Order: sequence, then structure tokens, then C-alpha cells
Amino acid sequence: MKVFKFGGASVNSTERVRSLPGILRVYPDEKLLIVVSAMGKTTNALEAVAQSFYSGDAEKSMTLFADIKKDHLNKAESLLPGGRPDLHSRLQDIFTEIEWLLLDKPTRGFDYYYDQIVCLGELLSSSIISDFLNETGIFNQWLDVRDVFATDDQFRSANLEWHKTEINVREKVEPFFRETNIILTQGFIGATDSNESTTLGREGSDYSAAIFANLLNADSITIWKDVEGIMNADPKVFPDARFIRELDYDEVIEMAFYGAQVIHPKTIKPLQNKNIPLLVKCFLEPALPGTRIHSRHVRHLPPIIVLKKDQTLIHLRSRDFSFVGEEGAARLYSILSAQHVQANLMQTGAVILQVCVDHDPEKIEKLVLEAGVIFDISVEKGLTLLTIRHYQPEIVQTLINGKEIVLQQWSLGTVQTLIRGFTELQP
Ligand code: ASP
Ligand code: MG
Repeated sequence: MKVFKFGGASVNSTERVRSLPGILRVYPDEKLLIVVSAMGKTTNALEAVAQSFYSGDAEKSMTLFADIKKDHLNKAESLLPGGRPDLHSRLQDIFTEIEWLLLDKPTRGFDYYYDQIVCLGELLSSSIISDFLNETGIFNQWLDVRDVFATDDQFRSANLEWHKTEINVREKVEPFFRETNIILTQGFIGATDSNESTTLGREGSDYSAAIFANLLNADSITIWKDVEGIMNADPKVFPDARFIRELDYDEVIEMAFYGAQVIHPKTIKPLQNKNIPLLVKCFLEPALPGTRIHSRHVRHLPPIIVLKKDQTLIHLRSRDFSFVGEEGAARLYSILSAQHVQANLMQTGAVILQVCVDHDPEKIEKLVLEAGVIFDISVEKGLTLLTIRHYQPEIVQTLINGKEIVLQQWSLGTVQTLIRGFTELQP
């Protein structure tokens, strides 16, 4: 069996949804588990609903929600003119769940409400797409993934409970495959023991698909995107970006760690553990080979260039001018981990530590407050982090030429340069 994942961009319009049957007909006798994301920018729109609800502006949250509702009803009507009676009532049930919630005043934390509201995007898109495919003769069983993916209650970045989920896959997913070739479900969401909805973190559908691939021992997983495959740089920033035919798992983990927005960082591990190849293919031109990611080490890669904007550098100087030492570094790491902040670049000196992180004002404020107990702290915002893997010194030189460098770190395979300001880089 294979796992397919269609992201938000592949289902952002009715035209794109209409191209799905053509792609799926190429795999007539294959057992497929299909994971879909919310349509287009629905997740962002739902985030705005959650924010206005939580800030006490119930009216605005209702208006924003009404737009999302209308958009989905229009798409459903366009794809299934006249509608299927059960689809209409299913969509209505999903809407009502949230409309009830929006009528109350918030009494719990923001992240809880965020997940209850935002999970709707995937439920709506999967319901519409499932019915559309059934109507076009691609018979499939719709599945509410919240009955399968068991998570803890760390809302907005919930952790999967693998053992419980595995049992659910055996008991609730595999039996469907005796009756149908295609199961269609949602990425990104799960549920706690007490049936509260959770989300796995933005762009988490890739990870959902990988979890299914692992637990169902899939032959392969395909992530369908609107690009040819994985490139060595973001083509919007570097017009000379090149397509990469083949990558190994470790390289993709590194790329995701440094901030390349190729695949959700947690996607690779579940695949690597079972040696399941990952294909990144273009749904606009499905005949193209795409990028293949596997365990065999891939040599001779082009330089891989990752640009991370909106970085903040925190300088931490030990209070009494004694050495920072292991203790200072250990304290800093434990604060970073408590705030779920990733150090994108870290430099340790005798009396000073420097750590570069994504700019998240709320988290940085907490971090500075906690670390301020033992360090004198200063913060510099508005930086850009350029990471180049498999570099030749010349390319590094060309890219950083004329830039104001704040910090630089060279290692055997990777060079990272922190640059002042928001830089437009051209190779
Ligand atoms: N819909 C979610 C998001 O936009 C999950 C995903 O697309 O992977 O973040
Ligand atoms: Mg997406």
C-alpha cells in the first residue's frame, strides 16, 4: 500500500480538486491512504477566528467564520452541484460545533481553543474531497483521524502517543482496507484521551502521512506539491535554484533543521525507521519523476542554501565576569527547551554565550526574563541567517559579499552566517 499527501496548495481551488481523480486513476488496484490538508489558506483564516474569539471580539470571530463557511459551501456546491444530502448535513455538523463554541466566553488557555477551531480546516476539506471523489467513481472511505491519532494535551504542538495510535490503526483503519482500496483522512490533527481536538504544529500534515506510512508499513509515501520536487534553494529568492533528483533522509532532516521549508521536520524519522522511500511529486505534472528520498547516502549534492529571516540574537554575559562554563550553557539549554525554542545558531565563549533564535516576541520575553537571573542580556532583532551546506568557499564569498556579518560559524559540511538586516541575496 502507499500513502499520499495532498497539501493545502494542491486542493486550494475547485480546479485543483478536479485534477485529483486523474492522478488517482493511475493507481487503480493500489491500496491508498490519502491525507489531505485544509484548502489553501483556510488554516490562517481559522487562526484569525481563534484570535478574535480569544481576545473577546465574538462578533468579529463570527463574521470571519461566516466567510470560511461560505467559501466551503461554495466549493462543495461547485464540485457537487445540487449537493449530496449527507455531505450538507456533515458540513453543517462541523460548522455547528464551532458556532456553539464561539457563543461562549473563553475559560481555558488560547492553545486549547486554537486547536478546537483550527482542526476544522482539514475536516471540511476532507469531507468535500471524499464526497467529490466518490461521485466521480473513485470510491473511498472517509475517516476522522481524531479517532485514530491519540495525542497528549500539549495543544498546538501535540505529541503522538505511538502505542495507542498503533492499536487504533490495527483496529479502526486496517479493517476498512478489506472493503475499500482508498481511505481518505485528515493530516495535522489528532485528539486527546478525553476527545479534545489537538493539532501537531503548522504544516504537520506531512508528519501525519509519515505516521500512517510507518504504522501501515507502506511501500512508499508521496507528498504531492505544486513544484517539480525539492530544490537546492528557494526559487523565489534564488532564481538559479536547481531541482534535486535524489536525497538521503539525513540530508532532508538537516535541511529542515536549518529552516528549508521543504518538508515538516518530524516527517523523516518515522520513514527512516522503516526504510520507507518518500517521493515529492508535482500534481500539476504527475508524469515527472519528482525527488526521491531514501536511506542510501547521496553524494555530489549541489550547495544547499537556506535563508531564515526574522532572526533574533541574544547575547548572554555572565554576571560576575566569571567563566560561563558548562553550568551556564546547561542553564541556557534548559531554558530554551522549557520554552520550546530552537537554537538556530549558538556560540560559546569564555564569558559570553550567543544564541540565535526565530523572532517570537512572547517566547523571547520569557526567555530573557528567566535567563536574566544569571546573565546580563542584550537582544538584537531583525537579522537574517544564511546556511549553506556542501559549500565551496567561493559561493559563500559571493553570497555574503558586502553584507554586514554579525556572527559566522564554519564546520566541515555547513557554514552559517548571521547577517544584519533583511538581506536580498542573489547568487
Ligand atoms: N493545514 C495545516 C497548515 O496549514 C497543516 C498542513 O497544511 O500541513 O499548517
Ligand atoms: Mg500546507
